[in-house]
Amino acid sequence: MLTTVRLDANNTDDLSRASELLRQGKLVAVPTETVYGLAANAEDVDAVKEIFAAKNRPSDHPLIVHIADKDRIQHWAENIPELAFQLAEKFWPGPMTLLLKKADNINSVVTGKLDTIALRVPDHPMLLRLLKQSNIGLAAPSANPYRQLSPTSADQVMDNMQGKIDAVLDGGDCQLGLESTIVDVVSNPIRILRSGPITANEIETFLGQPVITPATHTESVPGNVKAHYQPRAKLTLCDKEKLFIALSNDNPKIGYIVYSDDFDKDQSEHIRHLPSDKYAFAKLLYKTLYEFDKVDIDEIWIERPPQTDEWQAINDRLARASAATDA
Ligand code: AMP
Ligand code: MG
Repeated sequence: MLTTVRLDANNTDDLSRASELLRQGKLVAVPTETVYGLAANAEDVDAVKEIFAAKNRPSDHPLIVHIADKDRIQHWAENIPELAFQLAEKFWPGPMTLLLKKADNINSVVTGKLDTIALRVPDHPMLLRLLKQSNIGLAAPSANPYRQLSPTSADQVMDNMQGKIDAVLDGGDCQLGLESTIVDVVSNPIRILRSGPITANEIETFLGQPVITPATHTESVPGNVKAHYQPRAKLTLCDKEKLFIALSNDNPKIGYIVYSDDFDKDQSEHIRHLPSDKYAFAKLLYKTLYEFDKVDIDEIWIERPPQTDEWQAINDRLARASAATDA
């Protein structure tokens, strides 16, 4: 078992230490604006294999590579369409991952043997400093065991990964709390492979061309397995009416997550109100599910969010988090 060191992202020496560890091929969990990532040098094949092992993730499920700025795209990808540069210019640093054709010199361990590569410039000042200082690209999937909840704080990473990784760089709570939008810019029309904080509408409006969001696709995308992002407690999506009835004969083994004003805070000890603004909701969603997992409840009932494009990413995660595990 490794001893997992906790480093402070705001401390210059700690940041240098994280950079050094990564350059030596070690695993360091890092903060991003989406969720915490489990990072390693993306061009160090052994280090990348360690990521798969630590997460218990199948080796054919590709990892996102985080880079310091858009000018480095060409090191990782080839035959890059003009539109990719436009998206990078507009949305990077930010929660958009671009799927491109992998450059020949990049080992395909990081891409799960695919000939495409997923790239992103994260919008987190400390991680950007780390990327520049270490001068390497970082393969960084979410820092959770396969299929479980993505962590949005260093404490949560510690709970999940202590003893399996060398360090966690604590940069506080993640600003967005939801994984990036993955856009396949190789296909025509371009496709969203995973919904995220940047919506299909925003991308369409910016590009002035259609963007499709297929319900299923054939690429090996772990976010695309039916049961994913799962808390320990069984999660059920409920309409408001059903929640009202349930709350009136409160079962202590059920936790409730709601966002409508109609619910009364004192109705149950296990009721949590999330904001009705989708960004504020997303920021607290995994954290709230995670907190429920730490107390003695068997089920979480959550008020079904609006079924709109705006809430697409949240609805996508909730559908997977509530899917039967053997699906
Ligand atoms: P996570 O591991 O939670 O950060 O999720 C990373 C996401 O990026 C997963 O859904 C991956 O399957 C997806 N991804 C990374 N690289 C590729 C690729 N080359 N093709 C398709 N999806 C990819
Ligand atoms: Mg993940």
